[in-house]
Amino acid sequence: MPILEANTIVKVYGGSSEEGATRALDGVSLSVNEGEFVAIMGPSGSGKTTLLNILSGIDKPTSGTVSIRGTELSEMTGDELALFRRRQLGFVFQEFNLLDSLTVKENIMLPMVLEKKSAAEMESKAKSLADLFDIQSTLDKYPYQISGGQQQRTAVSRALTNDPAIIFADEPTGNLDSKASAVIMESFEKIVAQLATTVLLVTHDVFAASYCQKVVFIKDGMIHSSIVKKGSRKEF
Ligand code: ADP
Ligand code: ADP
Repeated sequence: MPILEANTIVKVYGGSSEEGATRALDGVSLSVNEGEFVAIMGPSGSGKTTLLNILSGIDKPTSGTVSIRGTELSEMTGDELALFRRRQLGFVFQEFNLLDSLTVKENIMLPMVLEKKSAAEMESKAKSLADLFDIQSTLDKYPYQISGGQQQRTAVSRALTNDPAIIFADEPTGNLDSKASAVIMESFEKIVAQLATTVLLVTHDVFAASYCQKVVFIKDGMIHSSIVKKGSRKEF
């Protein structure tokens, strides 16, 4: 069952004249199944971030449609879309985007505060996510007191607090060394396997993409090819 469907997405940035404009996406169609773990790969400037932003409702396409769980994003009002994104989608960024003035636990709980969840519920959810990602010992620390890998696992935990249907991640390993990258990709594998969450990430890290079940290659704003892996990743 597709959870996300994009149909002939075109994105043109800037200016009405052809010379001034950048055609960042040139007719991208894509279907992602529920519980799938997908990487979008491509060279710098190929349109990866633009595509991710459009699929997740951060940005609007010039033409084409995106629907998630059967709801077309363009048919929602701004308020409906904001609520939909908060409740159904989770986001992870290259820069982690944690708040330095809050502890790890408070950072994880932030989306639940916005949803006005009870203190007990927030506490128990933060603890269970910290267990899942092995960051229990960092809960009362501040982001600058923990490693980059722990910061990224905090960010992944925060993205999961409202049990989103889809996690979108933009270069999640971009600021991590290879060991921390492996840990973060294993956390995504856990989310997909244990929580049946759909994960869609953008990367130019081949090692990160090797964890995904499907890799879509994008070049000059168009899908060039894609591969679907049979069976699980082999370790040597
Ligand atoms: P990638 O993520 O693959 O590096 P991007 O989606 O960031 O690619 O960019 C695709 C193209 O669109 C590039 O030529 C980039 O310069 C251009 N672009 C991206 N965002 C904007 C913007 N906000 N305004 C104008 N051009 C943009
Ligand atoms: P990435 O490589 O992760 O896609 P970029 O450096 O391409 O990051 O883009 C960072 C931000 O700058 C994005 O939000 C993108 O939309 C914006 N951007 C990229 N290219 C341009 C551009 N030519 N004009 C305006 N904004 C741009």
